[in-house]
Amino acid sequence: MDRRPETLAAQALHHIDAETGAVIPPLHPATTFARDAGNQLIGPRDYARPQGPNADHAAAIVAALEGAKAARLFASGLGAASAVFETVAPAGHVVAQSRMYHGTRKLLARLAATGRITLSWFDPDAPESLAGTIEPGRTELVWIETPANPSWTILDIAACARAAHEAGAILAVDGTCAPPCTTRALDLGADLVMHSATKYLNGHSDVLAGVVATRETDARWTRLGEIASLSGATPGAFESWLLVRGLRTLFVRFERQSANAMALARALRDHAAVSHVLYPGLATHPGHAIAARQMTGGYGGLLSLRLKGGFAAAGKLAASTQVFIQATSIGGVESLIEHRKPIEGPDSPTPDDLVRLSCGIEAEADLVGDLVAALDGL
Ligand SMILES: *Cc1c(COP(=O)(O)O)cnc(C)c1O
Repeated sequence: MDRRPETLAAQALHHIDAETGAVIPPLHPATTFARDAGNQLIGPRDYARPQGPNADHAAAIVAALEGAKAARLFASGLGAASAVFETVAPAGHVVAQSRMYHGTRKLLARLAATGRITLSWFDPDAPESLAGTIEPGRTELVWIETPANPSWTILDIAACARAAHEAGAILAVDGTCAPPCTTRALDLGADLVMHSATKYLNGHSDVLAGVVATRETDARWTRLGEIASLSGATPGAFESWLLVRGLRTLFVRFERQSANAMALARALRDHAAVSHVLYPGLATHPGHAIAARQMTGGYGGLLSLRLKGGFAAAGKLAASTQVFIQATSIGGVESLIEHRKPIEGPDSPTPDDLVRLSCGIEAEADLVGDLVAALDGL
């Protein structure tokens, strides 16, 4: 029987431990695995660096949720992104959006500065510029992030995949902010989808991990596996085990986080201190129509406010909430608030007046009441 993704996630792929019958997987901290008298491995692996049993289990769950041929776990989201970029030929051409998660932007800029790749940016607010930025026969990889952290700009994954494929390139999507409970990037034509599992996939702000899932187990995928193992960006067994635990509740967490964010977006959009509420779930968001097609399980818990009072007001707001905790990161069950510009630095294209909110699963009235009171106090 084909189980639906909610069921696969909740049951961690209907996992039952063969030895004990336990419905929760054992934690395998072993780094090494024995051979028999004939020097044959007893199990499927000899050593934990390529990927241990707990990481295998987490990766298999993500692969099932993404409809992927395979998935691989990494020690962090940026570790996963780095491995994807490392599959690009020396000085190969990469096209990426100019506004996205600042860590990936910095990583790409650094790889370009050292000559490891050649890089062209395109403006995600003018997505029609993508086709002109891709160079047919030369561009190897197109990298997009949707919704893009922290502006929540939406890109049409299917359209980007067509543009990449027409030019002989592949499309890789950072799906961190649209986990597979709402968007299945591979179904929309992407070749690779990467997540910072630190965020929604784990969802409890207690694991650093990343994952890449693939539509095809092709030569690039083999290379990515070798890079993962040889670069040693492997997650620990306990992190992988915790990630399996987190993944089981992904669908219900995301549903509640989406509902909280929608309520907050609606409650704050007309507040006198707010110039813009950036949330793809609002009909007024420029990417709403695409998001409505592409984010079938909700728009997520992430939104940003732009404040009329500029940099100073943004700093003050982030420091004055009582329920939202002032901290970086996104996707956890506890709500977080952050003034982004001081975090991203002066080179960042993120506006001075932007405050990022990551809604958790708390009571909606507590979150709305907290933000309204903090905005009233500016
Ligand atoms: C956090 C984040 C990353 C990096 O993930 P880490 O697990 O922190 O390395 C990449 N992309 C996006 C969109 C993120 O929010």
